[in-house]
Amino acid sequence: MELVNTHCHTGYCGHAEGSVEEYVRAAEAAGISTLAFTDHFPLTPAFDPDDYLSVPRSSMEVYRQDVMRAREEHPEMEILFGVEMDYLGHHEDRTFSQAELDSFDLVLGSVHFVDAWPFDDPAQRGRWDEPGAPDAIWRRYGELWCAAAADAALRFDVMSHPDLAKKFGYLPSFNLQPLYGQMAEAAREGGRMVEVNTSGAYYACAEAFPAPALLHEFARAGVPCTVGTDAHAPENVARDILAGYRLMKEAGYRSLTVPTSSGDRRTIALDI
Ligand SMILES: [Zn+2]
Ligand SMILES: [Zn+2]
Repeated sequence: MELVNTHCHTGYCGHAEGSVEEYVRAAEAAGISTLAFTDHFPLTPAFDPDDYLSVPRSSMEVYRQDVMRAREEHPEMEILFGVEMDYLGHHEDRTFSQAELDSFDLVLGSVHFVDAWPFDDPAQRGRWDEPGAPDAIWRRYGELWCAAAADAALRFDVMSHPDLAKKFGYLPSFNLQPLYGQMAEAAREGGRMVEVNTSGAYYACAEAFPAPALLHEFARAGVPCTVGTDAHAPENVARDILAGYRLMKEAGYRSLTVPTSSGDRRTIALDI
């Protein structure tokens, strides 16, 4: 069936590599039909002093032009201009206009920060080892994720890697099932999509985001789902997309939902 990837990062982010054109060529070689570029929306120096986590604001227009040029030059592929936008809760310190948000075909909503601490940054992961930390971090992560997902006033089309807190393999002592139900309800309430993010299999958690039990809750709540590889280099542009489709099918999904460049969604039967 059609291969779709709605989540990848280029060298415009300090921690990823590859040009837009290199990604498109790799995607073409892999037979991808829809590719969304979703580099990290600029953070302020308070969060990203070295321009490592996000695209520098001064590069955003070049990033946009680069994606638009690729779209013109490769009409056989649907190419989306998107961003991955951090939800910072009450630590939000950026200003952006509605017009700027509207310029994106796709906005991924992500929780990478718990009370201004980037919990999934390998360079800052020490806090996870403090006594009682996994329980406290997971609780707070769940609250922030649900707040981000449920608030329809925020421009998040897709909530990415829904259980990212498991990335380093730290799990809470409590049962996650009630939180999974709350997350599915929050996503449904906010009218969000979610993604199966296949990169999780390559971290300590050793499975895609979200866990099968959470994906099952999303399916049961009728939350549409897409697939992203979260590639940080062109060679991973198509990594495990079919495995992502299989996870969706096992969780109860009958179709994949794909955002389009016109701001709509289309569905593809999960025929695998
Ligand atoms: Zn992310
Ligand atoms: Zn990402």
